Amino acid sequence: MSALKSNDSMVMPGATIGMVGGGQLGRMFAIAAMQMGYDVVIFCGSADEPAGQVATRTVVGDLLDHAVVSKFAKQCQVITLEFENIPAETIRWCSEFAPTYPSHHVLATAQDRLVEKTTFRDAGLAVTPYAAVDSAAGVGEFAEQHGWPVIVKTARSGYDGKGQHRLDGPSDAEAVPWESADSWIAEKWIPFEREASVVVARSTRGEVRCFPPFENDHRNHILDVSFCPSTLSPAQQQLATTIATRAADVLQLVGVLCVEFFVVDAETILINEVAPRPHNSGHLTIEACHTSQFEQHVRAVCGLPLGSTELRVGGAAMANLLGDLWGSQGQPPCWDRAVAVPSVSLHLYGKSDAKVGRKMGHLTATADSAAAAVATVQQARETL
Ligand code: ADP
Ligand code: MG
Repeated sequence: MSALKSNDSMVMPGATIGMVGGGQLGRMFAIAAMQMGYDVVIFCGSADEPAGQVATRTVVGDLLDHAVVSKFAKQCQVITLEFENIPAETIRWCSEFAPTYPSHHVLATAQDRLVEKTTFRDAGLAVTPYAAVDSAAGVGEFAEQHGWPVIVKTARSGYDGKGQHRLDGPSDAEAVPWESADSWIAEKWIPFEREASVVVARSTRGEVRCFPPFENDHRNHILDVSFCPSTLSPAQQQLATTIATRAADVLQLVGVLCVEFFVVDAETILINEVAPRPHNSGHLTIEACHTSQFEQHVRAVCGLPLGSTELRVGGAAMANLLGDLWGSQGQPPCWDRAVAVPSVSLHLYGKSDAKVGRKMGHLTATADSAAAAVATVQQARETL
């Protein structure tokens, strides 16, 4: 490993960290940073967003309003973000006042599935076979080479499965709302064995550290349950960790990056996508690891030594709580039942409006093994 840079750029507790974005990732970041003695200013659209509720201060405004962005950035010694779809312009304005991580180069890559896949493929990392498409005819050509089914996705602004269509044949391709987006990607449908992710942190000092791989189950293209340790073989875990470290280096990332993988077989692990921020699959680190992904994010952007990512329990599992669990009149679930289950922790994000498919919170269970933790967390969720 290369020598670490000097500590000149270290931002010490007591300083103010800026967070662009007011969602649950910003909220859990703010909680971790404030526990360490930092002040956190959130830039958000309204003060009652999840992160705004817990931070030291908020600055409310539009990402493209130069005056408000400046007012926010002036208060900060370092600035970071919780979602990748921030205009490059905003990040440039921020960086005139304080170091801003990750850089606009990283965002530009992560904002566009085509740029992202091309960047990693060109760096020699295996990605899902893909092509740019803009019509049913284009999908037909792609399918001739790779077969059906094909998944088409909007190249930009997709999340939680939004903007995705699984196509089983040419007639499905006709039904895609091609006019609704400027740019589309076609991907080979991967019959994966399992899905996994690795959260890697890279600090301003060049220090790099990975969390152990998480194994992820999705429902309707939305993450449902994650657990750790994963059932990947030691060789697969090593490979996933090596790829994640390489991906962070390729991007010259500062901050936290999650690399999502399709595990195809013993030797083949493909990058699905990356997110240059803490990730839903890493929420279990709050209870399960010596350092949570959120504290690691703080340490990385402040230039502090990175913390231990080792598990401090035999196993852990996280189950998402979607708006679907609320009653038709918005009645909340009976939380007392879930928290009555030993070793289960409840996290709610402070969102008032429970919509179907919206991430409202999560449960984490710790146990002697991942299997026991999964059973416990699912049992706890079922009580709701
Ligand atoms: P998002 O940005 O919405 O998370 P993803 O590309 O990660 O988009 O897709 C969400 C989920 O949909 C994946 O985790 C996986 O379960 C499924 N999926 C997406 N692309 C493919 C593919 N090419 N082959 C098989 N399953 C896929
Ligand atoms: Mg994904």
